Amino acid sequence: MDGNHGGCDGGRRRFLGAAAATTAGAALASTNSARADEPQAPAGAANAKPAVPLVTLGRTGQKVTKLGMGTSWAVQPSFVQTAVFAGVRYIDTSESYENTVAEQVLGDALERSKTRKDVYLVTKNSQYRRATGERALKVIEERLDGSLARLKTDYVDCYYLHGMSGREMSLLKDPAVKSAFEDLKRRGKIKFSGLSCHDAKLPEILDLAAEVGWVDQIMFKYNFRSVNHDALQRAVDKAAKLNMGLVAMKTQGGAEATYPDKVKEFVQKGFKREVAAIKSVFTDERMHVVVSEMTNREQLRENMSATREALTAKEARLLEEHRERTANLYCHGCGHLCETSAKGVPVATVLRYLRYYQAYGKRDQARALYQALPAESRAIVDIDADVLDAACPHGLPVTELLRTADKRLGLA
Ligand code: SF4
Repeated sequence: MDGNHGGCDGGRRRFLGAAAATTAGAALASTNSARADEPQAPAGAANAKPAVPLVTLGRTGQKVTKLGMGTSWAVQPSFVQTAVFAGVRYIDTSESYENTVAEQVLGDALERSKTRKDVYLVTKNSQYRRATGERALKVIEERLDGSLARLKTDYVDCYYLHGMSGREMSLLKDPAVKSAFEDLKRRGKIKFSGLSCHDAKLPEILDLAAEVGWVDQIMFKYNFRSVNHDALQRAVDKAAKLNMGLVAMKTQGGAEATYPDKVKEFVQKGFKREVAAIKSVFTDERMHVVVSEMTNREQLRENMSATREALTAKEARLLEEHRERTANLYCHGCGHLCETSAKGVPVATVLRYLRYYQAYGKRDQARALYQALPAESRAIVDIDADVLDAACPHGLPVTELLRTADKRLGLA
């Protein structure tokens, strides 16, 4: 078993230690009082309610809400306003979400509600692979200008290189890329620079981003399943020591949609896993913000409550039990472990798209992403199922999942 993903008692202790080993709420209460300022909404938002705690976002020094709003779905303008008026002050979007429509909707909503300056706004460049050497500034700035126009603003608080993978991480060391971001900062088009990542190389990318010094914040997949990922935990420790802004996404770590029968007894125990999952990230004192893909008022209300409530000992225990019981149902994204046995199929990517389809309900997006893969990346017929399944240290039925993905997301 790879050291990155093997069992790790240290990680387990970290998770349980956040709440279960304490009297209910004591640990979180002390953590939050040390890190989060007294809740208050910035002035300017009509009907603003001071309901979400603020936190200083690492080296940016900016006060943002611990709860951020994600917009990678067909976000409604009225829901954007609801979230902002409720006190959410961190919004994450991208030029690639809904093929630029998310930025347009967001720009309209913030302009109409006159709340642009009340929120910390992040968007992302998803076409930066050619941004090297002399071309770097032009490639990055052209995309940024498109985002600024759609967002109806003359600056974004942070601009990301989106979805960085191991293939692109050398850009972090390219002086031209660093200089492009510094130039955009000087001219006031961006305040801070960052990147997002859900690649198997996340620990290495996080490590390098922390070292190069010009990356102010990073958003990455982080949830209750990350506790036994030793390399990631070490990279998060290092980034936190260097005071990087750390933003969690995909905090649900859900496998339920794939195997609902395995977890229904938790529901019967009155355990709301979604709430416990987000609370478990809020308890991690190194993480600043959780970006949540909220789609309705009920989720917004629950998440806002979760920023203020402790992860109870019972929730921590059940979440840990749930993690252990479903560990072999959830793809951890460690494609380097199994993809050499997959004859060119990018297993981690395909299973991520399958999760978008099954767990997040993003069916159209998942199908579009899958169908955009080259044909050879979807050719599962040549795979030796025994070899591939044996390559996954987490015991996932990899071949069966790839077949399910092809059936659900493929062209047929
Ligand atoms: S199938 Fe298993 S080895 Fe492959 S990426 Fe997913 S969790 Fe890692």
